[in-house]
This record gives sequence, C-alpha cells and structure tokens, in this order.
Amino acid sequence: MRLVHSAILVGLVGFLASPVLSKAVTEADLRAHIAILASDDFEGRKPGTAGEAKTVKYIAEQWAKAGVKPAAADGGWFEPVPLIQRGQGSFDYSFNANGRKLRVGSDDIVLIGKQAEYVRGNLPMVFAGMGVKSDGTVGADVAGKAVLVLFDAENVPDKMKSPRARREALVAAGAEAIIFVGDSKGSWPSLRRLLLSRPIALESREMRAPLEGAVTSEFAVGLVTAAGQDWDTLRAHAKQADYAGEALGIDADFNVKTDIYRFNSSNVIGKISGRKKNSGALMYMGHWDHLGICAPEGAPDRICNGAVDNASGIAVMNEVAKALAKKKYDRDIYFVATTAEESGLLGAYAFAQKPVLPLDQIILSLNVDTIAIASRGSKVAIIGRGTTPLDDEVETVAKKTGRMIESSTNANAFIQRQDGWALTQKGVPALMVGGSFADLDLLQKFLGSDYHGPNDEVTDATELGGAAEDADLHIALGRYFADTRKYKSKKAGE
Ligand SMILES: [Zn+2]
Repeated sequence: MRLVHSAILVGLVGFLASPVLSKAVTEADLRAHIAILASDDFEGRKPGTAGEAKTVKYIAEQWAKAGVKPAAADGGWFEPVPLIQRGQGSFDYSFNANGRKLRVGSDDIVLIGKQAEYVRGNLPMVFAGMGVKSDGTVGADVAGKAVLVLFDAENVPDKMKSPRARREALVAAGAEAIIFVGDSKGSWPSLRRLLLSRPIALESREMRAPLEGAVTSEFAVGLVTAAGQDWDTLRAHAKQADYAGEALGIDADFNVKTDIYRFNSSNVIGKISGRKKNSGALMYMGHWDHLGICAPEGAPDRICNGAVDNASGIAVMNEVAKALAKKKYDRDIYFVATTAEESGLLGAYAFAQKPVLPLDQIILSLNVDTIAIASRGSKVAIIGRGTTPLDDEVETVAKKTGRMIESSTNANAFIQRQDGWALTQKGVPALMVGGSFADLDLLQKFLGSDYHGPNDEVTDATELGGAAEDADLHIALGRYFADTRKYKSKKAGE
C-alpha cells in the first residue's frame, strides 16, 4: 500500500514539475486502438491472413493521420518480409540393412522437405543420441547422413536443450536428414503437432536440413531391431556425456513431396524526419502480429486476439507517434511495426538483415511489447540493462516523468524473447523500458493464464494504467534522445 501511495505522489510531483509534458496519454486513448486491433474482426492478426491486411492498414492510417511519413524502402508504408510455410505432402520411404529391406511395424512418421521435391537413395543412417554431447558440440559424424536424434534431451547444456538449437547444430555439421524420435507416451503428440502446424519461417535466415521429420519411439525400436540392434543399448549410450553417436548399418531411401507456401508479410515503417542531417536516428519497434485462429474447431472461442500481446504495444506506439509528430526534432524518429514476432522475431530479423537505414545510425531502439500489465505507479524496468551505455540517461528521463526505477537485472531474463534481440545481436543499442517487466510476479500471472490463449482479449478489467504511463515515458524518451543537445551520441560523426 505504502509503495503505491508514495508512487502516486512521486508521479504527481513529476507531472507538475515537468514543463515539456503536454497532454498525457490516457487509458481511453489506448483502449480505442486495442479494441480495434484485438477485435474478432481482425482474427488474431496472423501473418498472411485477412487479419494482417486489416492490421497493417490500420497502423499506416493511424501514423499517416498523426503526421508520420511512410519510410519503407519503396517509399510506401509496407516493407515486404518474405516468409515460408511448409506442410507435409505425400511420401515414400524404405530402410535397408545388408541389402535386405527392413519391415517396420509402425507408420508414425512425419517427413518434410526443405524444397517441394526430395528424392535420395542409400543414405547411411546414424544414431546421434541427443544430437550434441554434454559440451554442446556435435560428436557424431553426421555429414551427408540421415540422423536419428532423441527429441527429449537430458545431459546437454541449457542453451542446447531446445530441439531447434540441436537441429541447427546438426545442420551446421552437415546432416542431410534429421529425424527426431518422440516418446509415444510423452513428447510425440506435441512434436507431431509442431511439425504439422505449418510453422512460419524466414527463408533467408533458416538453418534447415534438406529433409526433416520425426518418428515415434515404437517406430525407432522397430527399425533398429529389424537391423539387428538393440534400442535400449543405444539409448543407454546416448546418456554418456561424450557420446559421439554410432552408425546404424541402415541405408534409407526417401521420396518426399512437401507443400510449400511462400508469401510476403509486411513490417510497417514510418518516420518523422529530423532537422539535423547525419545526427543518427531513434527507433520505436513493436510487433503487430499474433497467433490468429488458435483453438481447434468446435472450441467456444477460437481466436487468439492478442490484446495485451501486442495490440497494447501498437496502441502505445500510435499514441507516441501522434505526440512526437507535432514537433520537429534534431534526429530522425523511426516507427517499425514488425510481423511474425510470434514465429521467432522474424520481422525484426528481416529488418536487421535489410534495414531501411544503416544500423549504425540507430542511437537507440525502444521495443514496446506486452505493455498492458502493470497499474499506475509501477516501477520502470529495463530489458537490456547493462548491454548499452544508456541506462543512466533512460533512468534520468524516467525519474523526470515521476517514475521509480527497478534497478535489478531480473527483466533481462526476457531479452531473447523480444524483437529488440534481433538488433542487439547486430550491435544496435536496443532496450525495452517500462512497467510490465518491473513486477515479474504480476507478469508471470499473465504468462501463466491468458497469454497466447483466446482469453487475451480487451475487457473492462484490462489494466491500462501502467501502459498509459509507459506511453508518456516513451514520449519523454523520444524528446530526450531525438535532441542532439540533450543526448550527445558518439555515433554519426558528432
Ligand atoms: Zn506472444
């Protein structure tokens, strides 16, 4: 209680003492955007759907109305992000040992090619345990081979626990085909569902073997037993820390057809031009996409509306754009609403690969994501704290708007889960600043309930107080970092 009261007091003092703060952003301002973006009419804003078309149009219209100018490479609002989805087509396979065709009793197999057509014969098969050794490196000789890998990983470093990390390590080691073995009493259903869900990928950044797939443990048992080997022995070997895999004495033939769907999604990009040429640029980012129709047919509510994640962030960006476009600043200010964040920060990675301004011109990128969590008076956390020299200046601005600072680095746990990460990896100072990540218990409550489900909707109970304060904070940060007298960048020849 005391904390809340004193926070409100500090907030008031800050407000009264701050001459630059014009009309504050209100909960109602934000709610109006969220109500539209997270409406059923927008169908959960999945890339490549009618929901995308409505979403990017709405954002561009809002920015245009605010006075922001289009800044995609072709002079329009929409920077194309070429995406790909793959679905299982028809396939045929056979396994041979010592010139004899093996009979396998199970047909629980999923096979998906990188290209539409994949035909290969006599591929030697290797069992690679978990895929990597306990030091995280690939031990097995997988180059040009079909590799059987256990989906459930123990005994590997944390950063290699995800199937994706191990798959990419095997691709880097030259694996021709990667087939995960899922536990039919455990991981198989989710593994199968994942592979068949037509996941969205950014083709220009993919690490993918020519053939990928999965089988059940029964399938694997049947296969190796038919070749005269013992599955339990292989699995016991896989638990050894320095296990380097073993040849199975099996050759595989594959003839796999894959449904490939390529489409362009869009990052929406706008700009407020600065007065001083070559003084660098400030950038705001936030992802517009969400999960679309996410519940199975027959469910009472099938749409994942993504009100908090991340209609709230786009709402904040729209209001920040409106406030900042009223004036000219020294530096350019960019606004980038990204696509396909939910599929792995793909729009942000596409921007980092093909930016509309040289990345070294960006003095600071502020990502705005999942912002409608905390109430008014919450502290300000920085995701990316310690990764840039800007923490002190961000804090000074935050304090001037009446906010208190969460000084721990706890929020950095989320650094790889937000679009700014795509820029951080390229050396761009990228932060996420705000209240939602200051109270991690409150955030976890959301992540454990409505997050990524049909209940992430806007209701009367949706908390927008903290988001409104964060919008004001982002406006103040814009006024500070876009001003060459206030923030003197060492970049851009100043
Ligand atoms: Zn999300």
